[in-house]
Amino acid sequence: MQGLNRRFEVIVVGAGPAGLSAAYILAKKGFHVVLLERGRGVGSKQVFGGRVYSSLLERVFGSLGDAPIHRWVRRERLSIINGERMLTVEYISGGKYSFTTYLGQLASWMAGKAVEAGAIIVDEVRVDRILVEDNSVVGVESGGDTLKADVVVDAEGANRLLLEELGLVEKPRPSDMALGVKEVIKLGEEKIDERFGLRSGEGAAWILAGSVSAYTPGGGFIYTNKDSVSIGVVVSLESGGLVEEPYRLVESMRLNPLLKDIWREGDIIEYSAHLVPERSVRLIPSKLALNNFLVVGDAAGLLLNTGYTIRGVDYAAYSGYLAANAIVEAEEKYGSYSEEVLRRLYEERLKRSMVFRDIARHKAVEMIWENPTMIKQYAALLLDTLGGLYELGESTPSLRETFKNARRKNKVSLIRVMADLVHGVMKA
Ligand SMILES: Cc1cc2nc3c(=O)[nH]c(=O)nc-3n(C[C@H](O)[C@H](O)[C@H](O)COP(=O)(O)OP(=O)(O)OC[C@H]3O[C@@H](n4cnc5c(N)ncnc54)[C@H](O)[C@@H]3O)c2cc1C
Repeated sequence: MQGLNRRFEVIVVGAGPAGLSAAYILAKKGFHVVLLERGRGVGSKQVFGGRVYSSLLERVFGSLGDAPIHRWVRRERLSIINGERMLTVEYISGGKYSFTTYLGQLASWMAGKAVEAGAIIVDEVRVDRILVEDNSVVGVESGGDTLKADVVVDAEGANRLLLEELGLVEKPRPSDMALGVKEVIKLGEEKIDERFGLRSGEGAAWILAGSVSAYTPGGGFIYTNKDSVSIGVVVSLESGGLVEEPYRLVESMRLNPLLKDIWREGDIIEYSAHLVPERSVRLIPSKLALNNFLVVGDAAGLLLNTGYTIRGVDYAAYSGYLAANAIVEAEEKYGSYSEEVLRRLYEERLKRSMVFRDIARHKAVEMIWENPTMIKQYAALLLDTLGGLYELGESTPSLRETFKNARRKNKVSLIRVMADLVHGVMKA
């Protein structure tokens, strides 16, 4: 941090979507803001699946006309794989709700907007500690240097070492976290259009469960970028998925006989792995604001994985936007960044927002995380039932018979199916 002699009004830690959005809004409002990022360049340390929902992003950045959008998602697929059998449901969407991109490119685009507005971004600076004096945050420490500011925004992402050190969160339990492992396979635009049944500019988002991810909660994903596909697996740190080396998980998905022809003749151009907060309700810190301090994005536990969609990037950007607006309002109306003011202007508004309410509402996913054997049993039950209906010899059994046979084979009682169904519907 040598050379940063100037005093800043705001320090933002972490150049992910949350930190960049906060820095952009603050700089636009005329605040002297510096953003510190430990990685080399913006976006070098981030990993994500591949799809971003656009509406909250538009709220923060306005038009996305010049954003690095690869394809607007038109086809949504959901598959359950059990050995050699696969059930796929496909939905063709009529509008533009989400797009595929590389997070590094999107972060660079956001960084461009923030710098253009006047923010200073300094990379290769890892913040070691949030500085606290007299019960108030006064700045940050990095490599023995200190940098002071009126207010600090923590956008450090899912690996919340600074918040842990500050005593605001505990170390996450393995059951709260998952590991995402991803490969990007370069395939060419035409092959992608042809193999996914897409027209130019259209994209596909495909979520997979079952044997493709060793029946762990989390599952697999496939997203089509402009001329590459992102494929990956998310596995709970507790579920036993990590008995295998992480790269093996995505490798076995890539080599899966039901999928491998999709990326035939493709070249792997990237491999990455990152923690994902899976059960984010439990990961939300008890406070999102202290005196002169705010927490945004993944660090605040703002991620929603419903099992068929994942939203983290747009939530992170929106929380950065709310935090920045709270800082602006705190300065203008109160001339103070006290915990009380910031909680009122940021935390309470965030908690009333759709983002927070949606995270709290989607509890059906928790049921699967709490009971991972469900995935294996139900995948087998469903595909054995369909196998009974479609893989015919001389006789054609009824749906009732095939379902009964499948239940017997997989040792799932009718009462249990009904109970899980009711429980799932009530929580959904
Ligand atoms: C495998 C996987 C798939 C995902 N798929 C999707 C998806 O398809 N769609 C979606 O919307 N979301 C997805 N997500 C979630 C999404 O990536 C996150 O929710 C989002 O990136 C959070 O943004 P953030 O700014 O809070 O944190 P991050 O993007 O993690 O950024 C945090 C930044 O802080 C920096 N940093 C950390 N500590 C320090 C420090 N001490 N000093 C300085 N810098 C620091 C990091 O280097 C990083 O650049 C996925 C996540 C994973 C892991």
